[in-house]
Amino acid sequence: MRVAIVGAGVAGLAAGRTLAKAGIPVVLFEKSRGPGGRLATRKVDDFTFDTGATSIAPRGLGIQAAMLQELDTSELIEIKSPIYTHVNLRAHPGDAARNAIPRYSYRSGNNHLAKLLANGLEIRLNTTVDRLERQNGAYEVEGERFDKVILTPPIPQASLLLWSLGESRPVANARYRSCLSIMLGFNQPNPNVPYHALIDVEQRHPLTWVSMESIKSQARAPDGQCAIVLQMSPAYSQDHYQTDDARVLKDVLPWVSQLFGSEYREPIAVDTKRWKYSQPEITAVFESVNRNHRGVVLAGDGLSAGRVERAYESGIEAARLILEEKP
Ligand SMILES: Cc1cc2nc3c(=O)[nH]c(=O)nc-3n(C[C@H](O)[C@H](O)[C@H](O)COP(=O)(O)OP(=O)(O)OC[C@H]3O[C@@H](n4cnc5c(N)ncnc54)[C@H](O)[C@@H]3O)c2cc1C
Repeated sequence: MRVAIVGAGVAGLAAGRTLAKAGIPVVLFEKSRGPGGRLATRKVDDFTFDTGATSIAPRGLGIQAAMLQELDTSELIEIKSPIYTHVNLRAHPGDAARNAIPRYSYRSGNNHLAKLLANGLEIRLNTTVDRLERQNGAYEVEGERFDKVILTPPIPQASLLLWSLGESRPVANARYRSCLSIMLGFNQPNPNVPYHALIDVEQRHPLTWVSMESIKSQARAPDGQCAIVLQMSPAYSQDHYQTDDARVLKDVLPWVSQLFGSEYREPIAVDTKRWKYSQPEITAVFESVNRNHRGVVLAGDGLSAGRVERAYESGIEAARLILEEKP
């Protein structure tokens, strides 16, 4: 048996590792130039930013054994400072239960975890799969023949691939938020704050999440400088998805100064990442979607929850479904 996996994000990598460990040959097809998907890190000048998932909370799930026992831990850091909440930019200590959950990051960026997970897997990078074909019970993907296929792109993209087979699944209710992630590097030390992240739980303010990248890991900025990522609320991100970066910056910089002081008015490094499908707000149900899968299994956070550890878990589940059917 040979399995094709579309997408080398966390779910695809988890599926790939699980099948490879069971001795099944797998090939991953990934449209980007590297693995990781929304476990994404970007360098801008001398600054390093996690533009997607900012921390990973393995919570006893399958990814915990991978991160803490199976993979190299030399870059792994446990984030000690808490997450605070904000109401109209006034910071308050966050929820104690939420802050008791161990959270991790990687010194050189969270995408490092994807590189570790990808090690040893056969991945065709820069390869967008835009259709699947079924022939005599097997599947053709990018001109190669496979017995089974696992689809891990966000559900609207995975649905297009299902349609190319003339199939549809009960995924219509799955919905994703979009998110603008704004990266800022300042020629200032880390602001004197007790948290590594600040969240507006109610999502009333356009600034939903502030990640202090160089508090998570000082390696994210040169000495005496700091790196910050702002994630904008779903409403702001939707309204400004097409707005040019300079205009968005005009909105956000006064909020940054309000939080940290007027010295944080003029960044020396700036970039923006637009996530069309950032995290699902409504998910589809893994079991119903994959009940009569006929060799094509869907996985990913759209069938679990918008978290790295849950996306990973859905990849393991997808691999298990395929292994159960192995003759
Ligand atoms: C701004 C933001 C902040 C977040 N914060 C956190 C956080 O702090 N903690 C947390 O746990 N989670 C967080 N998340 C969520 C987490 O990143 C995701 O839930 C998880 O990474 C999803 O993994 P996945 O494998 O399901 O999907 P993806 O990572 O999207 O992987 C799918 C892959 O498929 C590829 N692909 C798509 N279509 C095709 C195609 N046709 N052919 C080939 N390849 C294709 C994509 O390039 C991608 O690499 C955040 C996400 C975002 C965007």
